[in-house]
Amino acid sequence: MAKLAINGGTKIRTTPFPAYKTVGEEEKRAVMEVLDSGVLSRYLGCWHDDFLGGPRVRALEEEWADYFNVKHAIAVNSCTSGLYCAIGASGISPGDEVIVSPYTMSASATAAVVYGAVPVFADVEEDCFCLDPDSVEERITDRTKAIVVVDIFGQPYDAQRINAIARKHGLTVIEDCAQAPDAKLDGRFAGTLGDIGVFSLNYHKHIHCGEGGIIVTDDDTLADKLRLIRNHAESVVGDMGFEDLTNMVGFNYRMTEMEAAVASCQLRKLHKLVDERISNCEYLEDALADIPALTPPRKRENARHAYYTHAFKFDENMAGIPRERFIEAVKAELPVTTMREGEGVLIGCGYVKPLYLLPMYQKRRAFGKGSYPFPDNRTYPKGLCPVVERMHFKELFSHEMMRPPMSRGDLDDVAAAFHKVWRHRDEIR
Ligand SMILES: *Cc1c(COP(=O)(O)O)cnc(C)c1O
Repeated sequence: MAKLAINGGTKIRTTPFPAYKTVGEEEKRAVMEVLDSGVLSRYLGCWHDDFLGGPRVRALEEEWADYFNVKHAIAVNSCTSGLYCAIGASGISPGDEVIVSPYTMSASATAAVVYGAVPVFADVEEDCFCLDPDSVEERITDRTKAIVVVDIFGQPYDAQRINAIARKHGLTVIEDCAQAPDAKLDGRFAGTLGDIGVFSLNYHKHIHCGEGGIIVTDDDTLADKLRLIRNHAESVVGDMGFEDLTNMVGFNYRMTEMEAAVASCQLRKLHKLVDERISNCEYLEDALADIPALTPPRKRENARHAYYTHAFKFDENMAGIPRERFIEAVKAELPVTTMREGEGVLIGCGYVKPLYLLPMYQKRRAFGKGSYPFPDNRTYPKGLCPVVERMHFKELFSHEMMRPPMSRGDLDDVAAAFHKVWRHRDEIR
């Protein structure tokens, strides 16, 4: 008689888990005020007071800079556009090399490609999954101009070592902190650990406003360039009297007043939401500590991990079954989460495929029919970053069931599913 739900046994739970819904009355009121005002965006793409946007955008930028203790916060319409601005403002030129993590959302690397630069993928750490400083150092050449670090899953990158490498070689550090708002390292917020940080406000992130992103920096010149690229740089620089024309090709990356109004409300909720995630992850790690094949993520010393996802490592030799089979069985025991029913049970093996395995890198084709910007001697073979490949294809799994408002009872059900599958693993061998 099968015990496991995957073999026809009774599930641990069928009632859906509660929705992660952070939008409430405050956001509704804020958006209605904007609609009542009739001014949904006040940007002008020329050198004018409204070049910097309307009142809600500016208020959000001030609040964001204040909260994260940084000189400039610049609102844009996504983290992707923020990363494009960051690469552009850093003066990255065709043929330059940008070192980037392969374990991230595709835009972290595409930003370099858009400016004709070449992404060079370094490997990740075994235990924290961020860029490995030793691998970064190995990849540096005289064409390297920047490092795009990613605070993956909510964990700040190794700023002490990577910043030292960057200083030694004169490189700009761009921090993709889309997954780590309110994370900290040595008392400083993730996003402010490098030269430029970029946050995301899309629906999947800790806090959101529909679509949106915020770029932060302490550097006045970088801030000017970021604001120019956001809003039609080429038609503004002349009247503004801005002399440096490098990468002053502008876009429209402007955030609307409605999104800014929502983002301001969301920012006020951030700290408590992250506190709850941390406490839920700690509770689950305690509850799962007796399963020897599971290793919870290491927290970097002096770090606050924001837990965008909760990534574990699975030891298939110890378990005697492949990761996929084990996770499939755990998922079969559990229900979906309300508002995310279409995503299935919120546990998955690996994260995104290491980026260099995407067709754009494998076929070395981005613009037109040639191989620009990939030079002839730059290929992206399988095996390029062995640690990330092992994590993705063999060891890592992660779940999002630590999102508020999961109760202790809900988390007990998650833990019970893991324990049940572990106890009866002979059934799926
Ligand atoms: C979500 C995400 C992005 C892109 O964010 P958008 O706001 O959707 O453009 C970039 N990098 C990482 C690591 C992300 O998780």
